[in-house]
Amino acid sequence: MVKQEKKRILTGIRPTGSLHLGHYVGALENWIKLQNEYECFFLIANYQVADYVDRLDIINESILEIATDWLSIGLDPKTSHFTVESLVPEHAELAMWLSWFVQLGRLQRNPTLKNEIDALGNKPPSLAFFNYPVLQVANILMPKAHLVPVGEDQLPHIEMAREIARKINKLAGYDLFPVPKALVGRVPRLVGINGPDIKMSKSANNAIYLKDDEQTVKKKIMQMYTDPTRIHVTDPGKVEGNPVFIYHDAFNKNTDEIKDLKERYQNGKVGDVEVKMKLFNAINTFLLPIREKRNYYDQNKKLVKDALQEGSTHASKVAKQTMKELKSTLKLGY
Ligand code: AMP
Repeated sequence: MVKQEKKRILTGIRPTGSLHLGHYVGALENWIKLQNEYECFFLIANYQVADYVDRLDIINESILEIATDWLSIGLDPKTSHFTVESLVPEHAELAMWLSWFVQLGRLQRNPTLKNEIDALGNKPPSLAFFNYPVLQVANILMPKAHLVPVGEDQLPHIEMAREIARKINKLAGYDLFPVPKALVGRVPRLVGINGPDIKMSKSANNAIYLKDDEQTVKKKIMQMYTDPTRIHVTDPGKVEGNPVFIYHDAFNKNTDEIKDLKERYQNGKVGDVEVKMKLFNAINTFLLPIREKRNYYDQNKKLVKDALQEGSTHASKVAKQTMKELKSTLKLGY
C-alpha cells in the first residue's frame, strides 16, 4: 500500500523538444512553488504527441531533455515523482475505460483540440489525437490528483477531468477521485517572439528556450516583434500587447526600470535597442543559474535517467493501486 501524506499534484508536458519561457511562466513556476506543499507527479506525456509518427526521432531525446530542464529549474526528484507516461502503461488502460464516459461530440467541441487540429493543416487528425485529452484525464485521475498547475490552453481538458471524476464518484457511491482543480500560471499564455497573436511554442519556432546560450537569447530578443507602427524613435509607441513589454513585465524584476521604459516608449523617447538590451539583461540574469545547473546535469546524465526511472517506478505502484480500486468498485474487467 502506497501511503499518501499530502494532497497531490499531477501535471505534465509533451516530449516534443526542450522547455521555453512560456512553459516557465505558464506552468513550471507553480510546480517549483508547490513541490514541497504537495506530493507531485510530474509527467512526460509520451503517449500524447500530436503527429506522433512524424516525430519519432525527437520523442525519446526530448524525454531526457525535459527531465534535464526540470532538474535545472530546481524540481527535486527526491520529493517529486518524475514519470514517463509509457513506463506506466496503466495510463493507457485507464484512458480506455474512461473513454466510455466521454461522448465524441464533447471532444469535437473542445476548443484546444480544435485549434490543434487546425494547426495540422491538411493532415487529417489520427484517432489517438482525439483521445489525447482522455489520456490526460487518466494521467490526472491515476494518482488521484487534487491540483493541476497548467497553462490556459489546458483548461478544457481539466474541465473534462472534473466531469469524469464526478461521474465515476456517482457510480462508485463515494469520492473515489478528488474533483481536480486547475491552477493557471502568472502568464496564462505567453506570446512568442514573433508577434502578439501567436502563443510561444516549440512548433511555431518562436520560443526562447531555458537552455539557450547568451548569444542565442540576445539574437532572438534583438529580432523580437515590437510595435510595427513605430517607424522612428521619436514616434510614440504602444506598450499594451507589445511582446517586448509583455516579457519585461514577466521577467524583469526591476519594476522602476520597466515603468521608466514604458513612459519613454509611449512618449517617443527611447529606441528599441535600449528597451531590448534591458530585456536581454533581465532574461539572461534569470536564465544564468538555470544554464549553470543544466551544464552539470548534461555531464551527469545518469542522474537524469535515475530520476525518471525512480519516479516512474513509484508512479507505477500508485497506478496499480488506483486501478485495483477502480476495477473492483465499478466491476470493470474480468
Ligand atoms: P506542452 O508543451 O503543450 O505539453 O505544454 C506543457 C505545459 O506548459 C502546459 O501546461 C501548457 O499549458 C504550458 N504552456 C506551454 N506553452 C505555453 C505558453 N506559451 N504560455 C503559457 N503556458 C504554456
